[in-house]
Amino acid sequence: MGGCIHYAGVLGYSDVTGHFARRIWPDAWDPGRRWPGAPCWTEEDVDVFDPLGRVCRRTPGVWGMNDEAGYAANPPPPPKSDAARELELLRKVYGSVTGARNHNAYRHKDPVTKKLVDNVDEYVMDRTTYFGGEYESFRAEALAELQEKPVLRKLIEPPPAARTKHPDLWEEAQTTFYAWVRRGMLLAFEKAGKKDVSVPATILGGMTEDLKKQLAKVRAQYKGDFKAGGFNPRPMKGKGGYRLGTISEHALGLAVDIDHEKNAHIELASRWNAILSVAGVATINREATWKTKPRDLYDHVKAANDGFVKAVADGFKKAATEKKAGKEAMAFLLASDPRLKTIGEGFISKWGTPGFFNMDWELVKAFHDAGFRWGAVFGTVDIHHFEM
Ligand SMILES: [Zn+2]
Repeated sequence: MGGCIHYAGVLGYSDVTGHFARRIWPDAWDPGRRWPGAPCWTEEDVDVFDPLGRVCRRTPGVWGMNDEAGYAANPPPPPKSDAARELELLRKVYGSVTGARNHNAYRHKDPVTKKLVDNVDEYVMDRTTYFGGEYESFRAEALAELQEKPVLRKLIEPPPAARTKHPDLWEEAQTTFYAWVRRGMLLAFEKAGKKDVSVPATILGGMTEDLKKQLAKVRAQYKGDFKAGGFNPRPMKGKGGYRLGTISEHALGLAVDIDHEKNAHIELASRWNAILSVAGVATINREATWKTKPRDLYDHVKAANDGFVKAVADGFKKAATEKKAGKEAMAFLLASDPRLKTIGEGFISKWGTPGFFNMDWELVKAFHDAGFRWGAVFGTVDIHHFEM
């Protein structure tokens, strides 16, 4: 009987062909419903036969047999497919989203109109892969969990600002976002051999039992005070925004951010290299040093911090002798050294005077002793981050 029945919806774009398609049920075939001129909705339709072997020239569609003239004169615009709407909502509420490989933001320039359009096909392809072809049921489960424990909605992004900006969209977008995050958490737990870990319970608890235990060891050893936070059920972030199909360590309850308002994540490798350069500090193998000589890594980061703070202070002093203040002083500073320009005005305003590293050696040592990995070993140096 042919391929009349393979379209995804009653009405909508076929994700397979990208064409507007109507779904036709062979058992609902009604020879009385005939399209004058019989437009074929996809190339496939030309080759499709009805149960009696006739070429597919009719449709039992939702308009019925008497409304065809009206429809033909005034066809409605093709409705957006579920996937197109889903991607659009994610983009609106969460800003840019990309695939796991972080190479595009599910956007491309339409070759004809030259306008940026959503790359729905690629989104659906990635979604199908990540969810093992079971996306619909995963999303239904995600929605059921959110409905059962509405407090989860408070603990999962989007941040409040995006909620007020999109009061009637954010919940739907969040359900999709949660479906992705939940899938990532389940895959990670499975990979770690942890069965029966409840995603909602992990989110409600803010960290795993293991992390709680390890953190207690750190607190027992280090007598000072510190703030541990950073649990956030979300994908990793890249330069294109959330990388759907990945999962942040912070979503698994396996990482903490320590005093993040006093210790920076230096998000660009080029920035870190410029900091080392102005501080006159040589690069080291941070990962290897953390393992065997954690104190050396601590001293390395400290020296970079101190050298950076001094360079900024010297620059501002010079600016003052030139009678520059405020914005002019900053412009003078940036113009005085291309490396400072690479580090960037925003970073210097925030961290130039207090420094980006304000942690005692005893605290870092306590994390090392408890078996944590320090974010200072990452490609983009993440000083406040410790993970199991
Ligand atoms: Zn972190």
